[in-house]
Amino acid sequence: MKRRLTYTGMGILFIIALTFAAYKLMNARDYQLFGNITSHVITEEKVVALTFDDGPTKNTSAILALLDSYQVKATFFLIGDDIEENPEEAKKIVEAGHQIGNHTYSHKRMVLKSPSFIKNEIEKNDALIASIGYQKTPVVRPPYGKKLFGLPYYLNKHQRKTITWNLEPDTFFTNAEDKINYVTENIQPGSIILMHPMYDPTDNELQAIEGMLQALSNDGYTFVTVDELLQFQQ
Ligand SMILES: [Zn+2]
Repeated sequence: MKRRLTYTGMGILFIIALTFAAYKLMNARDYQLFGNITSHVITEEKVVALTFDDGPTKNTSAILALLDSYQVKATFFLIGDDIEENPEEAKKIVEAGHQIGNHTYSHKRMVLKSPSFIKNEIEKNDALIASIGYQKTPVVRPPYGKKLFGLPYYLNKHQRKTITWNLEPDTFFTNAEDKINYVTENIQPGSIILMHPMYDPTDNELQAIEGMLQALSNDGYTFVTVDELLQFQQ
């Protein structure tokens, strides 16, 4: 009886350890079981990639005008059903010469989903991205940065690149000034910044982005797309 209890106890500990490992794996920005994943590149050049998740929404024109005024190209991780809702906005992003990434069709957590669900989420959005005139194979960013087995397996099998980030001011701050300070204090050559300007009724996020464009340019940084950033990998 005593021995059985010990085995039960060990079993519970083992399950807790496995759950913890799976949780870490699901959220890791630098590691997945299959294929490559990039949160930043190692370089001495002062280059940085500005990346925007979600959308497109009606806010697109304001974002494009801001980037244009700094002559900066960014990377937009678009959601398929938002492209269906706002195809003209999506086309404007492509026409302005920015990079497009695939942020899945429906923006669900890509965890514990079937292979056919994952395939559909990526390929349906690939087709929409092609339909707005983008001709390259889009890099992929999992919604909420979450992935476990199925998505990395699919992306590796299809030789697709997974792109995360190493600077996420929106996670820690709401105020534009705080976000700018966080980025200027933590920036390193090769960083990937994640911002969410698409749902931004107050323009707070656009102010934060403008502050980063100014501050990092003054600090000698050049803004590049994710594809360009990958070329700097040492
Ligand atoms: Zn998202």
